[in-house]
Amino acid sequence: MTLKVKVPLAWFGDGTLVHHGAVVCEGGRVTYAGPSAAAPPADELLEVDGFLMPGVVDRHVHIRLADPGAVLFGGVTAVRDLGWVPEEIFALANASELPSFTGPVIRAAGPMLTAPGGYPTQERWAPAGTGRELAGPEDAAAAVTELANAGAAAIKVSLNAEAGSTPSDAELAAIVEGAHARDLPVTAHVQGRGQAERAVGAGIDEFAHTPWTERLSDLLLASAARTMRIVSTLDIFSFGDVTPELRTACDNLVRFREAGGTVVYGTDLGNGAIPPGIHLREALLLHEAVRMTPEEVLIAMTAGSIAVDGPADLIVLGSDPLVRLQALGDLRTVVRAGRVVSG
Ligand SMILES: [Zn+2]
Repeated sequence: MTLKVKVPLAWFGDGTLVHHGAVVCEGGRVTYAGPSAAAPPADELLEVDGFLMPGVVDRHVHIRLADPGAVLFGGVTAVRDLGWVPEEIFALANASELPSFTGPVIRAAGPMLTAPGGYPTQERWAPAGTGRELAGPEDAAAAVTELANAGAAAIKVSLNAEAGSTPSDAELAAIVEGAHARDLPVTAHVQGRGQAERAVGAGIDEFAHTPWTERLSDLLLASAARTMRIVSTLDIFSFGDVTPELRTACDNLVRFREAGGTVVYGTDLGNGAIPPGIHLREALLLHEAVRMTPEEVLIAMTAGSIAVDGPADLIVLGSDPLVRLQALGDLRTVVRAGRVVSG
């Protein structure tokens, strides 16, 4: 069964904008992406009057606190879960690969590595097992090995000094060494004075949130920009208002980008009133408060381009977000693994 999606305008994610474009999919993969005049025939034709682009990727969710179907119908075709009970979340991640699953593809970090009693072990939202309490560097290395063997897509570390103790520098070093030996990135929840600096010093690869609890120095941000990326999650600092936390985060993020750092879109779905699917307010904050161009925002919201042999995960919007980013709120069609799931 082949599917052809035909649109007046297609953005393939790599800077290519095609007028009168088409994407043909078979078996969950893209077999053609280009001008519709040159597209091969397909069993099923879907013509949508809109703007086609890759499905949106949310790099920070807690999917068990949300409805996976609503996430997919809202235009998000892949998510990365950054904190849950390992047995449950890795099983769900495996299930998300099956055609019968109604939801985005799920990648997962499993639990957060933390100190005894540290964040998130005392949080009401976090069931037992969401934090893996470490008992020294050897135990930290063993935890990384267990998670890598279970299929973790990243290793999450909790450096939340406002909620309790945090892993030691020796434990951090063991985590980073072990994760990198398995080609896994380490992402950190950083909260409280000095924790961002510890993360940078330890060679951690990513901030799971834009740091919001202190203004980081240009020097630290320049160092971070060379080796780390930041998952935005800006809206959870204010939920539509303007707060000191949002101002601090945006100031850090602007200067991180000026230093050449990479920002990816993430919402922390499951934390407070974040809607499932594309979160327009997060995209608009990146554009308006962080001064990213609409195309830079779209790149931050997607993973790679629509290309032959790539995953057939697409969305179509009612108008062109490169002209007006609000178009992200006008979703017309979602295609996941080559199947039309809505539209
Ligand atoms: Zn989170």
